[in-house]
This record gives sequence, structure tokens and C-alpha cells, in this order.
Amino acid sequence: MACQATIATPQALAGIGLHTGRITTLRFVPAAVNTGVRFRRVDLPDKPEIPARIASVVDTQRSTTLGNGPAMIQTVEHILASIQCLGLDNVIVEVNAPETPLTDGSARPFVKILQAAGRVEQDADQPLLSITAPLAVEGNGMALCALPADDFRISYTLSYHHPAIKPQFREFPINDATFVAELAPARTFALYSELEQLLKAGLIKGGSLDNAVVITDQAILTKDGLRYPDEFVRHKIMDLIGDLTLTGRRVHAHVISIRSGHTLNVALARALCAAAGIA
Ligand SMILES: [Zn+2]
Repeated sequence: MACQATIATPQALAGIGLHTGRITTLRFVPAAVNTGVRFRRVDLPDKPEIPARIASVVDTQRSTTLGNGPAMIQTVEHILASIQCLGLDNVIVEVNAPETPLTDGSARPFVKILQAAGRVEQDADQPLLSITAPLAVEGNGMALCALPADDFRISYTLSYHHPAIKPQFREFPINDATFVAELAPARTFALYSELEQLLKAGLIKGGSLDNAVVITDQAILTKDGLRYPDEFVRHKIMDLIGDLTLTGRRVHAHVISIRSGHTLNVALARALCAAAGIA
């Protein structure tokens, strides 16, 4: 069984926040054995912490938002996927705003600074979550199931019935190598039809082609082209990894998704915890 690990040195990163449009700073800090991942709002009195666990989920509309009383942190999934896939278990994520920096819309900037931080093994086993029978959750034309397996694997089918996005399917074993090379660089994407109202309402001040791929009925808009022909399905797999870290464990299962988003991903995380007897 593998050991728990934390980072060797603190590392920081700054970037624009989607909703405020202001520069947000994030800092990864080493943490003790069995701390898990915790967000710390250093801009609030007493610097409240928000555990990256299912019980903290307060919203799953467009991204995954965690909260602890009045303290919230929005868009945690890319950070959580990066921490877990780089073999880290115990990390404090300090943030000075209610949202994380957008970066380029992918997990790659987080991977880079976590690699720069170095990894230190700790004197305890990594917590695992395995299942003995299949589990499934579904709704709104989406489905997500988990089959017993000895390691972590994700198969994902993306299908939007949209003129500019053909269906995409990928399957990956989830480990540090596949994450860094195949998944972390895949960027957030958004349909322009969904963004239009938000933009008009002044709600996504920080959003631009610097931090997302935007899809109109006629075209895919990016500054420098797609990073993979199937970048979208890869990003959805990365989101799913991040949401499943909210179990607080390393999931050993073959997870099969048909079009799932954050709401269903979190529902599966909850079902996995229930099946494994984790509170
Ligand atoms: Zn995402």
C-alpha cells in the first residue's frame, strides 16, 4: 500500500477570478498526516477552513463549490484532481477570495507548481475506497456508474447534440502519468449560448478566451487552437476525477460516465462513500 504524502515547500499562483474579474492568489501549504485537502480563506476573519469533502459541497451548477458556514470557495475541481493525481494527500490550499484563479482553464498550471513544490512521503497509508458491487446514479439524460476494480479507470462519453461538437469517447487509467500528459492540459469549455446571458448580467467578469474554449453554433473559438482533437472529453474526465476526490479517498473502481457533470459526479461520490460505510 502506498504512503500518504504532502508537498515539501509552499508554492503560490495568482490569476483572475471568473466572477469578480479580480486577481486571486492561491498558495499550497504542506499539511500533517490525515489532514486531507482543506481550503483556507485567508481573506476572512479567523481564516476559516473548508474540508474538501462531500459534506462541504454547497453548489454544483457550473463548477463545484464548497462551503463551511459563510465561508465558500468556488471551482475546486481542477485543483483537487491535480493534488490527488500527483500522489498528494495532505495539502492546505490558501485562497484570498471566494473563487480560485482561472489560470488557462486547465489543470496544467496547478500541476506545474505542485511539481515544483516537491513531494514528501508521510508515515501513514493512503486511504482507499473500493467497492464489491456495481453502483449507478442517473438523471437528466446522464448516467454514471462504478464497477469494482483493482485500480482507478474512467471511461467517458460526451454527447451534446450540438452542431459544433461531435460525440467524443475516451478511456484512461488514472495515474500521475496519464493525468500530466493526457488530462491536465485540457481546458474548460463553454457554449456561447449559455454564456451570453451571464455576460450581459455582468456575472463572469473574468471570463475570456484566455481561460476557456468557447463554442458557438458555427465554430469553436480559441486563441491558439485545440490542445487535443478531443480536448472536451478529456476535460470532463479531469472534472470527474476532481469531484470523486471529495470522497476523501483514492477510489479504486472503473467509473463509466455518459455525459455526467458536477451534480451527478458528486452524487456518485456520495454513493461510493455510502457503499464503503464512510461518513
Ligand atoms: Zn472543469
